[in-house]
Amino acid sequence: MKVVFHERYKEVYASDPAAAYGRMESIVKELKGRYVFVEPAPASEDDLQLVHHLEHIERVKQRGPLYEAALLAAGGAILASELAMEGESAFGLIRPPGHHASPGSSWGFCWFNNVAIAVEKLRAAGRIKKAIVVDFDLHYGDGTANIFARVPEVAYHHVEGYTRQVFLDDLKEFLEARQDCDLVAVSAGFDRHERDWGGLLKTEDYETIGRILRDYAARTCRGRVFAVLEGGYNHDVLGENVRAFLDGLGRPAA
Ligand SMILES: [Zn+2]
Repeated sequence: MKVVFHERYKEVYASDPAAAYGRMESIVKELKGRYVFVEPAPASEDDLQLVHHLEHIERVKQRGPLYEAALLAAGGAILASELAMEGESAFGLIRPPGHHASPGSSWGFCWFNNVAIAVEKLRAAGRIKKAIVVDFDLHYGDGTANIFARVPEVAYHHVEGYTRQVFLDDLKEFLEARQDCDLVAVSAGFDRHERDWGGLLKTEDYETIGRILRDYAARTCRGRVFAVLEGGYNHDVLGENVRAFLDGLGRPAA
């Protein structure tokens, strides 16, 4: 398990909760010394064009430092996916998040769809055919769903459930129904925690989610799995929730 991180992810590039000061620091504090950190390069404009319209890219470009931050986040997702292809599970500790970014528009603190760009880059290079994108953020990743709506090779699933057990069962049911894929990509949002906006999951549930995904990837695609950060806004608990998830995802498969 490796953590993809760049010191520049600490920069406050906007005034939204995903860009807040101290958010990255709260996670780094929990992961440093526990996992090897690797540094990504920014994505290229060609990478962005794998999923985004030129007009959208140009609009974000007008915003200067935010564009630079968004390119580096997409680059982080790409590196995490590359590590997964080498059989090393990886977590992109990146921002801005991406799952509300559609081909021609974005909202909800997102600009470019990091996870979709990484998946489409591997598909365009012919390195994978089928992928699944599992999103356990509190919010539905409308951007990711839009990008893959007419792509039968990539299945997007937003995990839902009004109790902890129903939530975990929903994840398991989705995975059990898909026994062929070349890569598991995960939009990892931590805003459904009991002390975050969603008020549901406990910290230990993130370890369970990580373990379920790890075991599934080991069974179906030689352990190729990567995750990237989406939401999660309570800095008091965000770090330990990410750590719990990585402890599950990085554990040797059962
Ligand atoms: Zn969210």
